[in-house]
Amino acid sequence: MTTTTIAMDGPAASGKSTVGRLLAEKLDYVMLDTGFMYRAVTLAALNAGLDLADETAVTHLATSLTLDVQSAAGHEDGRHYTALLNGQDVTWDLRTPEVDANVSLVASYVGVRQEMVKRQREFGLRGNIVMVGRDIGTVVMPDAPLKLYITASAEERARRRWRDRQAQGHPDSFETILADVKRRDDYDSHRQHSPLKPAPDAIIIDTTGQSVEEVVDNIIEKLPVNSVR
Ligand code: C5P
Repeated sequence: MTTTTIAMDGPAASGKSTVGRLLAEKLDYVMLDTGFMYRAVTLAALNAGLDLADETAVTHLATSLTLDVQSAAGHEDGRHYTALLNGQDVTWDLRTPEVDANVSLVASYVGVRQEMVKRQREFGLRGNIVMVGRDIGTVVMPDAPLKLYITASAEERARRRWRDRQAQGHPDSFETILADVKRRDDYDSHRQHSPLKPAPDAIIIDTTGQSVEEVVDNIIEKLPVNSVR
């Protein structure tokens, strides 16, 4: 069997993007962090001054956007990839507390999800991909031969996110970040459409107290025999 898609889901700040990126690097796969899409729709809606509670308007906007990712090459600012919204580099604009605060609402709209899932599946057709999100194993790529659910305690996840934000020069308090992480987990897990949950056949990996390298090595051991290396 050839592993061409690895589906990786998990709660906010579980380290799945970092793990996904390193795993993709080691396997010579590409990584798609699908959270960037929901963040980009949220940013576009905020920039357009839309009422984010207006599901019809937000959904309409989502279908009209051009979203793309490029490699981080040429940028020395710690980014893992470059996110483009209508051709503009919005990589860091997607990471503001304002986007964090609103993205789960936007991502709960069924029309927004349908549009993003369509785009993610098109991207997935390229194969040899690690796709990272909340519903990849359950909805986007249910036939993926390897499904992983990456988690860690809320405190550890908030600590990691807090350290990243400090390193980037943002003064957010640990308590604020912990509250945001818990709120988004709760919202994402209880929404009606495609809630956050492990696929029944997902391997659950708790990364609390583990380094990224340990997690990735552990995953590589789990790859189906004869998978592409
Ligand atoms: O992974 P990240 O924290 O960037 O995702 C931001 C938000 O986007 C999540 O809290 C969730 O509401 C939404 N999301 C989603 N489905 C995905 C990826 C992200 O609903 N596949």
